[in-house]
Amino acid sequence: AAGAPAANAFDDRALDEELRPSRLADVVGQRKVVERLEIMLAATRMRTEPLSHILLDGPPGLGKTTLALALAKELDVECQITSGPALAAPKDLLPYLTNASGNSILFIDEIHRLPAAVEEFIYPVMEDFRVDIVLGEGLNARTINMKLKPFTIVGATTRSGMLTAPLRDRFTFREHLEFYEEADLAEIVRRNAIKLRTKIDDSSALEIARRSRGTPRKSNNLLRWARDFATVKQKEGLITNEIARQALAMLEIDVLGLEEQDRKYLRTIVNVFGGGPAGLAAIAHTMNCPPDTLEDEVEPFLLRCGFIQRTPRGRIVTASGLNHLSG
Ligand code: ADP
Repeated sequence: AAGAPAANAFDDRALDEELRPSRLADVVGQRKVVERLEIMLAATRMRTEPLSHILLDGPPGLGKTTLALALAKELDVECQITSGPALAAPKDLLPYLTNASGNSILFIDEIHRLPAAVEEFIYPVMEDFRVDIVLGEGLNARTINMKLKPFTIVGATTRSGMLTAPLRDRFTFREHLEFYEEADLAEIVRRNAIKLRTKIDDSSALEIARRSRGTPRKSNNLLRWARDFATVKQKEGLITNEIARQALAMLEIDVLGLEEQDRKYLRTIVNVFGGGPAGLAAIAHTMNCPPDTLEDEVEPFLLRCGFIQRTPRGRIVTASGLNHLSG
């Protein structure tokens, strides 16, 4: 990383691969979810059936892709990856379906963005591994029915509320991923420091964890930044607490892990909309930021901090939110 880019510039998904745990046993935290998945895996192995379809929901960077890949690894099957926006029409899904080997996994990220036509096409796939393909048009149109090998769809979404009921119901197993505890994030930082061949002491790992907004992807990004910072500023490249603090300060990440964008969101509601209620579209417009980014990446953590409330009339900054801004 050159210079001190904004914290958001670190959200590079390409970097995820390097630090992704590949086995379920190496997945840190989310104990309840992992335990339930382990039961499902064990049952699947005994019956030699494909795993049931699984829906994972939660904010970005909490491990949805990681879990899908780990499940495939545990079952020793391949995992194809696609996403809702990439599947504009049923024909875009077809290659994935015909490529899917028996019991393999198809991971569909942002599944709430599947166009309606693709969604309807996917119902018979999920129910009985069958597709109905319409060939030709008008009077000459005929439907070909094709049988597929049984496989598993793992859907990921940041907005389970945006899924239609028929789609949601076809996932027999639904899990919500919560933000991570500090201790789990610190463990992730320590393990990944080893992978990155960087030395970090426990208190610095905790410092990074504390400021990661409950999100492993953020921890990884902050760790990489602290490593760069230590390499430049400190002879042995050791990430000490002092180095970690300076590195985080340079990114303008505050004690709770809020970034400039989070504070700007709070300030906008307070200064422009008198503390709220303010509609999401109006806030996004004022901030010159896509409403989806605010809803997916900014609001969930501020809600969890208790800094904002979502009401039918719009977003409101709470007293503790105000307190944090002025503190
Ligand atoms: P999502 O698909 O929910 O956006 P990812 O699965 O891509 O999130 O996770 C982002 C990165 O965070 C991964 O590359 C991995 O390094 C790390 N990560 C996520 N969850 C965990 C976990 N439970 N344990 C260890 N690392 C994790």
